[in-house]
Amino acid sequence: MKPFDYVRPATVAEAVAAAAQPGAVYLAAGTNLLDLMKGNVSRPDRLVDVTHLGGLDRIEHLADGALRIGALVRNADLAHDPEFASAYPAIAEALLSGASAQLRNTATVGGNLLQRTRCAYFYDTASRCNKREAGSGCDARDGENRSHAVLGWSDSCIATHPSDFCVPLVALDAVVEIEGGNGRREIALDELHRLPGDTPERDTTLEPGDLIVAVRLPPAARGFAAHARYLKVRERTSYAFAVVSAAAALLIENGKIKQARLGLGGVAAKPWRARAAEDVLKDVAPTADAFQEAAWRALSDAKPSGDNAFKIELARRIVVRALTLAAAGTPARMPALPASPFASTSGALHA
Ligand SMILES: Cc1cc2nc3c(=O)[nH]c(=O)nc-3n(C[C@H](O)[C@H](O)[C@H](O)COP(=O)(O)OP(=O)(O)OC[C@H]3O[C@@H](n4cnc5c(N)ncnc54)[C@H](O)[C@@H]3O)c2cc1C
Ligand code: SF4
Repeated sequence: MKPFDYVRPATVAEAVAAAAQPGAVYLAAGTNLLDLMKGNVSRPDRLVDVTHLGGLDRIEHLADGALRIGALVRNADLAHDPEFASAYPAIAEALLSGASAQLRNTATVGGNLLQRTRCAYFYDTASRCNKREAGSGCDARDGENRSHAVLGWSDSCIATHPSDFCVPLVALDAVVEIEGGNGRREIALDELHRLPGDTPERDTTLEPGDLIVAVRLPPAARGFAAHARYLKVRERTSYAFAVVSAAAALLIENGKIKQARLGLGGVAAKPWRARAAEDVLKDVAPTADAFQEAAWRALSDAKPSGDNAFKIELARRIVVRALTLAAAGTPARMPALPASPFASTSGALHA
């Protein structure tokens, strides 16, 4: 592994100053970053350890009804917070479907958002990868690419974003609070991750040295609690990334959908907000036909990037199933296999 400096700032201001120099990166729990460093995929000159910064490990209920989640809140602590899980059940379900219990106990909110792609060629330094080394090529294009993107990809890169957490967050209009060289600013989560275009080496719209300090859920996000689910298809029932996933949230009044929210995972380089699908669900009854129509809209721009045409049909079916589960109502407690299609379709609970 390449030698690097290690600094442990005491304040957010010190952290931002320490990360201003080229080659510096933030270290949170390290469950992704340290793996990448050990494999020589990431070669930072300086690690700025943010795990001891005060005040970033809180879940705060704001006066306007929004929820502010500090960037250092652990994935498991958030998912198991009873108030959080009942107000934002699809997010809790997504968190509990990710990684393993040990990883969730240590992984942080900020690190989960900024984890890198799981494209195998990105991790293999003997392969050509435009994301790891700009302009070097993309061995995934003619390689093993059945798990790659079907939306928003480019000839330069066909990788997907691996986070489960981000999928319901994007559906619920989450906002990311950032501290940078020019002070505090915020952006919609939908604008955090980038599509690859000609510059796949840039995963996000963040500037060097930008520190995520919190993620905020707007007051309206709570309105979906009664009808919100996350559904994830993976190659085994736990400890695996999504092949395809969907977060569905509905606001149902008098038998009609007043508002729908839909996010897709495993299909693009960013968590994918399916706004056209949401539009067709407005003011209609929550029927199988309406959900089919929404699924077609959600995937209308999809095209295979390799040996992955199956993902388009799979994603349509997952959208229909997630909407169906959401319409049936959020279960009072999480199923034994959170976010799994092998859990009961009715959302009923395993004892
Ligand atoms: C075996 C395995 C299986 C997994 N399965 C899943 C899965 O099914 N679903 C899923 O969603 N995830 C999965 N993960 C990924 C896991 O969720 C991430 O590794 C974890 O969330 C990263 O959090 P961290 O705190 O360890 O981040 P780190 O590894 O410390 O950091 C990750 C990146 O974020 C940056 N960073 C961290 N915090 C900040 C901040 N506050 N501001 C700016 N930059 C920051 C770092 O510089 C780094 O680039 C899996 C991981 C492993 C190892
Ligand atoms: S798909 Fe993207 S991450 Fe994977 S090898 Fe190609 S450029 Fe690299």
